[in-house]
Amino acid sequence: MPLKRLALLFSLALVLVMALGYLLLRNLVILPYVNDEVLATQQQEVRGLMFQIEARQQALALLAQDMASDDHLMAYLSGRQHQHGALPLRQGFTVQGLFLYDATLTLRYQDRDPQFPMPMLLSDDPFQRAKLMPMLDPHHPRASMGVLLQGGLPFLYAAATVCSAMGDDCGHGYLVIVRRMGEDFRDRLAQTSGLSFTIRPATLEDDSLPELLASDQLVRPKAERELLVRDALGRPTLVMVLSHTTRPPNSITRYEWLTFVALAVMLVVVNLIIGQMLVRPMERGVAQIRAMERNQQFRPLGNGANITEFRQLASAFNSLMRMLAQQREQLSQLARTDALTGLANRRAMEEFLDEEWRRLCRHQRGLALMMVDIDHFKQFNDHFGHGTGDEVLAKVARVLESVTRRGGELASRWGGEEFVLAITEPKRDELERLAEVVAQRIGQLPISASGISQRLTVSIGIAFVPAGQDPVALGLNLNEMMEQADRALYRVKSAGRDGIELWCGCDTMGPHRP
Ligand code: GH3
Ligand code: MG
Ligand code: MG
Repeated sequence: MPLKRLALLFSLALVLVMALGYLLLRNLVILPYVNDEVLATQQQEVRGLMFQIEARQQALALLAQDMASDDHLMAYLSGRQHQHGALPLRQGFTVQGLFLYDATLTLRYQDRDPQFPMPMLLSDDPFQRAKLMPMLDPHHPRASMGVLLQGGLPFLYAAATVCSAMGDDCGHGYLVIVRRMGEDFRDRLAQTSGLSFTIRPATLEDDSLPELLASDQLVRPKAERELLVRDALGRPTLVMVLSHTTRPPNSITRYEWLTFVALAVMLVVVNLIIGQMLVRPMERGVAQIRAMERNQQFRPLGNGANITEFRQLASAFNSLMRMLAQQREQLSQLARTDALTGLANRRAMEEFLDEEWRRLCRHQRGLALMMVDIDHFKQFNDHFGHGTGDEVLAKVARVLESVTRRGGELASRWGGEEFVLAITEPKRDELERLAEVVAQRIGQLPISASGISQRLTVSIGIAFVPAGQDPVALGLNLNEMMEQADRALYRVKSAGRDGIELWCGCDTMGPHRP
């Protein structure tokens, strides 16, 4: 798989793993902790609200008790005083209704706002009415209190036993006052509890809601919650819809999404950087290596990458390739060298001649082939042994090497005891002199074994195309020229050996003997 795709997949996997890890951490560790904190704060807020409402009720209850400890009221209920005008009770207090009952729970007096339309306290059921009253001990000053809904509006109520001003003569009846939970009341509640809320009348379905007065039962943090308030008869009266300031964390916030996106973008950027720094140089390197393979030519890899390992890789590759090139050169050298004599072998000579022949055809600078064959070498071998024969071949090779030192000259072992010399831009007289020198020096080679010495002779056949001659015009090719050298050699052998013959590829001149 390409590195780029691999890096991309790896990055995506990384983002997924990180996102998953974060979600696990968040949901299993952070959220429970935060939720506990939020729940505790919300319970505190609800408790604050409860406290405020209770404080209000207490205040109303105290007021009811104060108002009910009144000799006039007592006198009124005991029938000693009958005029309503003598009971300006609601005057001066912010209560919306005032009801006076006698000991038999019969309504004896009422003073109410038009806002408080239906005096439900006039219920026909004395038992229900009794529940609203401080009924434990009608002879002792005490008050009961609660919330009730009248005409769809929430009211606080407080009921107190009517007693004498001294508080020692009770049991003549009950005083009930109601106070509207108005906007200002709600505003103040919101300010002190830190909650914003609305109130709505409760329905029967709300019966299962958690109750305001049991706020410790709140088990889960919520942004909004509904709490039920019951009246003194235990009926669902109103529902407070609370909106907490401290809210449970959302499932995944905008910032978290942003973080994920930023992370993904960062990884894409990292990918691009990796692509630029790692993949690009790699691709370039591969392209260079492919080009080397195509052209069969080694070119050192550039160290364009800024990465140390890459530079090291390129350097290692380059030195390996240099070593291979050297070995290849050595092998090619070996393949073109005769093992016994160290001269160029027949293959090397053929390559050289191919090249020179093309040059000859192009530039007509002349070419000569000199075929040198040791005379009676078989007999020599038979006489002196094959080992000595090998040594002699090497000596002859040194002679031939020593006379072909110029550029454009090459001596080779053509096969067995036969050698071929190639001479470019030859001049006839120089060529002839060269052949004589060769024959002479070989003749002078010190050859002796087992006390017997022998003079070595060679036969030399030369094929020669002088400078200025176009072999194509002559209808001559390389094979033919070789053949002409071989024929010249054969002629020398036939004529008794130890001689030189030259064939010239000239317009006018035919085979020529020196
Ligand atoms: P001619 O004068 O006609 O050339 O006779 P000749 O004996 O030289 O030629 P011939 O072709 O009959 O024999 C060539 C001999 O060269 C045969 C072989 O013993 C010998 N020879 C060929 N290669 C080697 C070699 O590598 N080492 C040795 N010691 N002898 C070789
Ligand atoms: Mg021979
Ligand atoms: Mg021979």
